Amino acid sequence: MEPLQLNDVSVTYPDGDSEVRAVDHVSLTVAAGELVAITGASGSGKSTLLAVAGALQRPTSGSVTINGASVDDLAAKQRTELRRTEIGFIFQQSNLISSLNALEQVEIVSHLRGKRSTAARQRAEELLDAVGLSVAVGRRPHQLSGGQRQRVAIARALINSPAVLLVDEPTSALDSVSGGAVLDLISRLTRLNGTSTVLVTHDMRQTSGIDRMLVMSDGSLEPTSKIGIIESQVFT
Ligand code: ADP
Ligand code: MG
Repeated sequence: MEPLQLNDVSVTYPDGDSEVRAVDHVSLTVAAGELVAITGASGSGKSTLLAVAGALQRPTSGSVTINGASVDDLAAKQRTELRRTEIGFIFQQSNLISSLNALEQVEIVSHLRGKRSTAARQRAEELLDAVGLSVAVGRRPHQLSGGQRQRVAIARALINSPAVLLVDEPTSALDSVSGGAVLDLISRLTRLNGTSTVLVTHDMRQTSGIDRMLVMSDGSLEPTSKIGIIESQVFT
């Protein structure tokens, strides 16, 4: 069974007398080590889809399975535990804690914490090394660039070795050079850690390392031709 499976998921929000269908009968399966990119207009339902995939939000209908466990059947406490151990989130803002240095940001969310675990520290150091920040482990957020802060957020998302990595527009606050580096890193770490990764991005300059590209449109998820996007980039 693949780590992430969405089966006929819909999400509706009340909107006055009627309703908004933010996600409309979406099915999606992501294999281990696979990077699926989703693009689409603002308001098309991308963030809602990620929230449902990450057990932050229940779908109105349909089902979500993470690492073989149906999320729909879980009580709130079990969902929280599942999120902590099996899901890594990376958002547009890195949401770091201003008083902690880079190493502490990553270490503090480790499930190995508690007994001042040297294993947690070692894993945090390895991850910061993997995102190219070993020289900056002692720096606090205000001493890091936007791209570096996002790389800390990537390391933090991976500390518990999640099966599923969900990434929502990670480069929208970055310049193109650091944005490209962040996308490249997400692609490399997806392979290295074997996560099932869903990446929502407007940034289609860098298509290498992406296995599948999908477009969200009015709540529906449609395949797109990767070639078409590359060509339109070349010719515009
Ligand atoms: P995207 O991430 O693609 O911009 P969203 O998932 O944020 O799209 O939103 C999809 C649609 O659902 C939009 O019409 C938005 O206004 C609506 N929506 C999102 N969240 C809520 C909410 N909590 N309550 C009501 N409507 C919402
Ligand atoms: Mg969004």
